[in-house]
Amino acid sequence: MSPLLLGCIADDFTGATDLANTLARAGMRVVQTIGVPDVADRPDADAVVIALKSRTAETSVAVAQSVEACRWLRRHGARQIYFKVCSTFDSTARGNIGPVLDALMDELACAFCIVTPAFPETGRTVYQGHLFVGDTLLSDSSMRNHPLTPMTDANLVRVLERQLPAGARRRVGLIDHRQVAGGAGRIRERMADLQAQGCALAIADALTDDDLACLGAAAGNLPLLCAASGLAIGLPGNWGITPSETARHLPPVEGLRAIVSGSCSAATNAQVTHFVGSGGAAWSLDSRRLDGDALAAQVDEIAEWAERHWRAAPQHAVLVFSTARPDEVQAVQSRLGAQQAGGLIEQALAQIARRLVARGARQLILAGGETSGACIGALNVTRLQIGRQIDPGVPWCHAHSPDAGDQGIYVTLKSGNFGGVDFFSRAFATLA
Ligand code: ADP
Repeated sequence: MSPLLLGCIADDFTGATDLANTLARAGMRVVQTIGVPDVADRPDADAVVIALKSRTAETSVAVAQSVEACRWLRRHGARQIYFKVCSTFDSTARGNIGPVLDALMDELACAFCIVTPAFPETGRTVYQGHLFVGDTLLSDSSMRNHPLTPMTDANLVRVLERQLPAGARRRVGLIDHRQVAGGAGRIRERMADLQAQGCALAIADALTDDDLACLGAAAGNLPLLCAASGLAIGLPGNWGITPSETARHLPPVEGLRAIVSGSCSAATNAQVTHFVGSGGAAWSLDSRRLDGDALAAQVDEIAEWAERHWRAAPQHAVLVFSTARPDEVQAVQSRLGAQQAGGLIEQALAQIARRLVARGARQLILAGGETSGACIGALNVTRLQIGRQIDPGVPWCHAHSPDAGDQGIYVTLKSGNFGGVDFFSRAFATLA
């Protein structure tokens, strides 16, 4: 088994896949685990990404889970720890980014840590410590109205300093763009200066992938980094790893194709419309039959319907979706309550995913962050091996599930707004 080089802790599920995908593209063999693994043996991989759901959890829970993940990774030899946060720095006035970072620095006896959510490929850049989403300051972007983590200050030095626990006495400095553009040596000088001035953390500017590569090279010896997935571009090179197709090679899987979609994002609506418009076999979930016997009957009908389609055309995918436009979602929510509707639909889709796998689906697209979390949970998947990218941020993965027999399944977790309009058909085509 090769040594574990990079240990990652992600504060949400699809963010973990995004990071795993970036590392795999840069040549690392990557496994993503769902939560902290409880088994003693570790996957054979260069990097392990532990996916937590800690972004909006109670701060004490987020800290405890993150420290537990860090200990697991260190116990298995990880040489560097990467705390993955959202590229819009999603957090509240209290955290959880600051408190988790503070605890991880204590845990690792880390004297200095670089922080940057920059991800130029997706329009996230940091200049003079201020985060931009495209050409808009974070605080003027739609993130200022986020229901859970409204971001009303784009100055990340200030945001992070406010989140650090009062007793922590850690200060935050800035590695500005001129220093970053000066290359790894200049960045290291700046880190030393900041430390001498009493700063333990620094927001790093980055406008381009080259900036991230310089930061990655300069950060080679730091025990802890905090970033969105952009900084991962620059890290594998520190271990002499270069991009290669073999890192993304997955074991072969034969079987039927299915799509389960619970995302109601604009992108997923367009993808469902495109699939149906192209003559794909699709079942629209009946939101009046979501629990008890009515749900059981609907799941049976769907399984039989899917089998009929697969018998007629084994290469074709079946789609089961609750994906709907905002007015339709509103109607369901006013009938059932928003939380209740979301939960019932997630659980129904999870049961359906399980049944389709039990009937032979081995190539599975799951659309929606919460939806894919529920489906992966129902399938008892605990780890994902990361394969080739389908669209930015969305790779195929290989997973084992008790429902899928020895060869396992291919699965892809598509977060709502990711993917082109023909994502579904293209995803399967990349496997052919
Ligand atoms: P995204 O990644 O687009 O945010 P998620 O799966 O995370 O997608 O979230 C979608 C939420 O909407 C889920 O809780 C899902 O159960 C719920 N949902 C899906 N379809 C409907 C619908 N037709 N009416 C109401 N809620 C829905």
